[in-house]
Amino acid sequence: MKSKHATYPNLFSELDLGFTTLKNRVLMGSMHLGLEEARGGFAKMAAFYAERARGGVGLIVTGGIAPNRAGAGGPLFATLTTKRATSKHKIITESVHAEGGKIAMQILHTGRYAYHPFSVAPSNIKAPITPFKPKALTIKKILKTIDDFADCAALAREAGYDGVEIMGSEGYLINEFIAPKTNKRTDEWGDSFENRIRFPVELMRSVKAKVGDDFILIFRLSMLDLVQNGSTWDEIVQLAKAIEKAGITIINTGIGWHEARIPTIATSVPRAAFTWVTEKMKGEVSVPLVATNRINTPRIAEAVLAAGQADIVSMARPFLADPQFLLKAEQNRSDEINTCIACNQACLDHVFARKQATCLVNPRACYETELNYRPVKTARKIAVIGAGPAGLSCACVAAERGHKVTLYEGTGKIGGQLNLALQVPGKEEFSETLRYFQRKIELLGIDLKLNAPATAEQLIAAAYDEIVIATGVLPKNPEIEGIDHPIVLSYLDVLRDKKPVGEHVAIVGAGGIGFDVAEYLTHSGTVLSLQPEAWLQHWGVDKKYADRGGLTQATYEVSPRTVYLLQRKKQKIGTNLGKTTGWIHRFELKQKKVQMLTGVKYERIDDNGLHIITENKARLLEVNNVVVCAGQLSRNELMAPLQKAGLSAHLIGGADVAAELDAKRAIAQGAQLAAQI
Ligand code: NAP
Ligand code: SF4
Repeated sequence: MKSKHATYPNLFSELDLGFTTLKNRVLMGSMHLGLEEARGGFAKMAAFYAERARGGVGLIVTGGIAPNRAGAGGPLFATLTTKRATSKHKIITESVHAEGGKIAMQILHTGRYAYHPFSVAPSNIKAPITPFKPKALTIKKILKTIDDFADCAALAREAGYDGVEIMGSEGYLINEFIAPKTNKRTDEWGDSFENRIRFPVELMRSVKAKVGDDFILIFRLSMLDLVQNGSTWDEIVQLAKAIEKAGITIINTGIGWHEARIPTIATSVPRAAFTWVTEKMKGEVSVPLVATNRINTPRIAEAVLAAGQADIVSMARPFLADPQFLLKAEQNRSDEINTCIACNQACLDHVFARKQATCLVNPRACYETELNYRPVKTARKIAVIGAGPAGLSCACVAAERGHKVTLYEGTGKIGGQLNLALQVPGKEEFSETLRYFQRKIELLGIDLKLNAPATAEQLIAAAYDEIVIATGVLPKNPEIEGIDHPIVLSYLDVLRDKKPVGEHVAIVGAGGIGFDVAEYLTHSGTVLSLQPEAWLQHWGVDKKYADRGGLTQATYEVSPRTVYLLQRKKQKIGTNLGKTTGWIHRFELKQKKVQMLTGVKYERIDDNGLHIITENKARLLEVNNVVVCAGQLSRNELMAPLQKAGLSAHLIGGADVAAELDAKRAIAQGAQLAAQI
């Protein structure tokens, strides 16, 4: 175990696998990118993975590739079933190897989670998260599926991969065989535990026989199903031992089925909240174990390894956020890492919407061949007005390219709306984004002027070559009778200025900010995202594993306030929130007994509270305060005078379009503009 690193000695230790050595203890976890099916996607993936290999990742695992058509996640999802198809994969493996990296291909059979009508499973039980009922596999088809896995692994080897990861967790096909919840067979592939694990064990044996001893074989084992009637801990240990015997090289940890109603990777999940699961397995098997979920800084990764909880740490999204994560850690520049804030907004939410993945804090992720920040030949004098997400992103990329940038900010700190998000319990990770930008400003020598609301006259006089207006938004004031009544507050009054709020509150507007304010006002004081034990109890995760699946009774907090969350639209509240995280916010507010009213007509606000009409009936909400979260208006008043003066001015972020603005669009728009000017 060679390591010379003073700060992260475990992270940067080699791992000898017998036939090959990993240069450090970091595995880049599998993640579907949406490039697997895209036109020209393999060339883009080659650039994407090569950049991560150049950044020093010990072992990369690709997004899931199906071993046959039935196992593909959707009708056009990637499979590897023919020799011809290996040539596409070779572009990836050669690019990664050229950077000194190692890469394994994940083989994923999605089983009953497949989003097409030809899905198969051990039994014909429909999953709650797809509309398709799977067909139960016949014995002949089971044997054929095992062969397909083995053939796929052999093809992966031929394509130049250093190994394969067999996806045995998250509620996909293999997991469906293992758990009594989804395996109701009465033949030799179901019923008893021995029969239920026959599929993974036979499969691993067949794969091993096809690929030989000098090929990395990872099994992603569901160590915590988080669904009722999943596996018991004893069964999981026995399975781990059986697959070790079948010749596995590494066991990776899987946490929670996709249908589980417990968040496992969202930003409100405490960092390293599930590494105790992998630790439980230590000593039961002798192959290296990988810990996973919400590990997003080198310090956390080192702590997990130093505590002996695992031999390797898996991180996926952190490498979308910053391909140089490890390089920076190794060079003791961890404060320069662009940290993944676990928002899912641009990665998983995109993938679930069948869009190409990218990253909210790094819009270059998956666009490595298209969005590049090339050094400029002639540095130009650029003013960026507003240090919110759009302005910060634009200023940093422009300065990185060599421009001379002055960044004007009207308030005393950078961050704009990100400072509001930071007030919301469970959104603490946003502070990492502010830290990252602050450090970039220092490193790039950006002239940051705080408490400096730039005027048009000043900008005209300073003779900038380019002016970027990123002055953000102002809260929209809806036209409701009594809107000026003293009980009315804006979300800025609540989140930024901390004005006192009474016990009974109505929130006008149920967009992202309405939800944030509702979570802030119903919060009991315990910041669960910073307290792993309390968080596990809150969601009903049982560390003792008394029942199958590791679930126990959840404990809910009581809100200190009665809150109404209102919208005029008739549709269900919160439908525009993130696909993978919206349900968490809705669930949390329901537990806090927030009353969500739709189809609301606002009549007036007076001393008695908020008068509304809902379901054709007049109703008085007797509240102490009405908090307005009714969207925003662009602040772009600088644009006209600058254009009139003949200057080259650009609008970005909320100053450009206020509707549905979020940090993802703001950061991407800032970076895209700066890449061109
Ligand atoms: P938003 O998402 O556009 O929501 C505005 C809300 O106000 C809607 O519920 C709308 O519903 C209501 N509204 C609009 N005009 C109104 C009027 N004249 N009178 C009364 N109600 C009115 O805006 P936001 O909540 O300010 O959020 C801004 C952006 O930040 C959004 O893109 C949001 O996604 C993003 N954000 C995201 C998160 C997150 O967790 N991902 C958190 C915070 C913010 P009705 O028109 O039906 O009444
Ligand atoms: Fe992380 Fe959010 Fe980027 Fe996804 S989009 S990688 S969760 S920061």
